[in-house]
Amino acid sequence: MHEWILAEQTHAFIRSQRWEAAVLPFGATEPHNLHMPYGTDNYQVDEIGRRACAKAYAGGAKVLLLPTMPFGVNTNYFQVPGALACSVTPTTLLAVLTDLVDSMERQSIRKLLLLNGHGGNELKPLMRELHHRTKVFLCLCDWYRMIADASKEIFARPGEHADEMETSLGLAFFPELMKPEQADPGKAQPTRLDAVNRGWISITRPWHLATTNTGMGDPSAAAPEKGRRLLDVIVERLAGFLVELSAATMDERFPY
Ligand SMILES: [Zn+2]
Repeated sequence: MHEWILAEQTHAFIRSQRWEAAVLPFGATEPHNLHMPYGTDNYQVDEIGRRACAKAYAGGAKVLLLPTMPFGVNTNYFQVPGALACSVTPTTLLAVLTDLVDSMERQSIRKLLLLNGHGGNELKPLMRELHHRTKVFLCLCDWYRMIADASKEIFARPGEHADEMETSLGLAFFPELMKPEQADPGKAQPTRLDAVNRGWISITRPWHLATTNTGMGDPSAAAPEKGRRLLDVIVERLAGFLVELSAATMDERFPY
């Protein structure tokens, strides 16, 4: 039983504490190449949330981990043969976020970190949508964006989806659900538009055309110790931020 995990706690305990900040994780339920479970993004973001909040709580932060939103935006997955992605639209995600922010605000939580683990969930525009309507301070961590420097050191083959990084996290934190011998090479297909391939122009990629079996990035060099190393970096950075956030005074100039 962990004091900082809302789902594990009683009303008696929760109401006896003064909570400064909450963490709301966002995942997805989608295929990950042929070797990782559909719940990959949820397992990863759960693990990150639990460890970061544990460390922050031990460091004095009054931070509470909320349950993970298990459905993400996968509107570009519907033509992947045989797939069963459970997709919501960005509008639905906005509605969920709006209601949960409102719940926090009415029950005195004034700081909320959105901890996102799925590339299709673009939460920043949703924060802008709510910015002038709520007193809750919203901040966002797309965890895969906070470790560009560490990833370069740890991983040999950069990728995007069910790649060496995600596979290493799976081997480290949910090995019983992994089938590494079934992985395909995760080769990404270029489009016929040069500027798109160069990254100058962005599109929503139809995943059945962009990939072979939904993987993007070669997972063959994955290893559990690489996953553990990466998680240590994420937890260190995130826990440090949560301690700072929890202790910060909310005046009219906050966070400046
Ligand atoms: Zn993923």
